[in-house]
Amino acid sequence: MERKTIYLCLAHMSEEGVEQKYVKEAFDTNWVVPLGPNVNGFEDDLKKFVGEGKEVVALSAGTAAVHLALLACGVGPGDEVLVQSFTFCASSHPVTYLGATPVFVDSEADTWNMDPVLLEEAIKDRIAKTGKKPKAIVPVALYGMPYDCERIMDVADRYDIPVVEDAAEGFGSRFNGQMLGTFGKFGVLSFNGNKMITTSGGGALICEDMESKNNIMWYATQARDAYPYYQHTAVGYNYRMSNICAGIGRGQMTVADDHINHHKHVQALYEELLADVPGVEIHKQPADGRYDSNYWLCTATLEPALRIVGQENAYKEVIKTAVGGAAGVIHVVDSTTTDCQPNDNVEALRVFMLEKKVEARPVWKPMHKQPVYANSPAYVNGVSEAIFKVGICLPAGPCVSDDDVRYIVDCIKESIVK
Ligand SMILES: *Cc1c(COP(=O)(O)O)cnc(C)c1O
Repeated sequence: MERKTIYLCLAHMSEEGVEQKYVKEAFDTNWVVPLGPNVNGFEDDLKKFVGEGKEVVALSAGTAAVHLALLACGVGPGDEVLVQSFTFCASSHPVTYLGATPVFVDSEADTWNMDPVLLEEAIKDRIAKTGKKPKAIVPVALYGMPYDCERIMDVADRYDIPVVEDAAEGFGSRFNGQMLGTFGKFGVLSFNGNKMITTSGGGALICEDMESKNNIMWYATQARDAYPYYQHTAVGYNYRMSNICAGIGRGQMTVADDHINHHKHVQALYEELLADVPGVEIHKQPADGRYDSNYWLCTATLEPALRIVGQENAYKEVIKTAVGGAAGVIHVVDSTTTDCQPNDNVEALRVFMLEKKVEARPVWKPMHKQPVYANSPAYVNGVSEAIFKVGICLPAGPCVSDDDVRYIVDCIKESIVK
C-alpha cells in the first residue's frame, strides 16, 4: 500500500460531524453573515474554555486579533512595541500596519520564548534612547510552549506596559494551571487550518471585560456610531468572524480537549523513542511544574556534527514549492541560500523526510534576521538565531498515529550517516 503524506498539523473534524450540523443550521436559518447564533455560541464556548472571568471576541483571523489588540493599547504612528523575535510574522506585522515600529526581544534557551531579563533591558534602553515607554509587549507561545508568565508579567507590571499575549499556537496551554491568553490585557487565539482547532480560518481576542470586548467588536465592524445612517468617528475594520466559520468552531470545541491530549501524547512518544538517538534532541518544557504546553508542534534540534544522508547536496537547488503552505503564494527566488539559514544537516533531514512522505519544517526564522525588519531595533542574545540553525518541526496533529510517530523516528534514524 502506498504511504500517505504525514503533514505537520492538519485540521481534523469531530468523528460525529458536529461541525456540519452547526454549519447546516446557519444555512437553514439564513444566518450566512459575519454575526449570528454560531458566533455568539462559539464565543460562549471559548469564554468557558479560557475561564478566569474573561470575555472573548471571535474575529476573521489571529492576525486581526493582534492588530485590534494593539490598536486598543493605543499603538499608533511613531510608537514602539516590544515583540518576541522568535515567532511567525503575524506577531509583528500588525505593529507595522499601525505605523509603529516593532522592537525585537530575543529568547531564553529553555522555553525558546521572550527572555524576561532582556525584556527589561530593552524597556530601559528604549526609554533612555527615545524618552518614551514602548506601548505594548507581545510574548509568543512558540509551538504551544508557555512563556515565563510570572516574570514577563512582573516586568510589564513594574513599567506599567500592557501585555498582548500571542497564544495563537498556545490554545489550551497553561502556566501555573492558568490558561495562556488570560494573563495579559489581551490574549490572541488563531483557528487557522493548521492550528490546534480550526474554523478554516479565524481567530479570537480574549479581553478583560465587557467594555473592552465591546470596543474590540466596534472596531471589528467598521466603527459605526448610533445613527439611522452610517456615521463614523473612527477608522474601523471588517474583522468579524462569519457565522459559517463559527459553526465549524462550535463543532471543534467538542474535540478541543481530545486534540490537546493527543498532541501531548505524541510529544511523550517522541521523547521516549528519540531518547536513545544521539545527536537529535527533542525540545521539552521546563520540568519545574509550572509549564503545561499543548505541544502544538513537536520540535527537535540536531547537533551540528551530526551527518545526514544527502547533506552534501543541501541548498544546491532553488526551492520551487512553498515550504509549509500548500495554498501559499510565494515570491520566486533566484538564490539558494541567505545569510542566515538552518544548518546543512537540518535541510538534508527535511528533504530526506519529504522523500519518506513526512513533512518536516525549519523552526520560525527570527524576525530580527528578516530583511523586511532590517531597520527595527533588536535586543539579542544569540539564542533564537542559534536554535533557528539547528531546529526542526515534526508532525504532531490529531491525524498523527502512534505508528506514524514510530515510522517518523525510524526515518530519522535511517537518515543518520553511521
Ligand atoms: C498562526 C499565528 C498567528 C495568527 O495567524 P492567523 O493565520 O492570522 O490566524 C499569530 N501568531 C502566531 C505566532 C501564529 O503562529
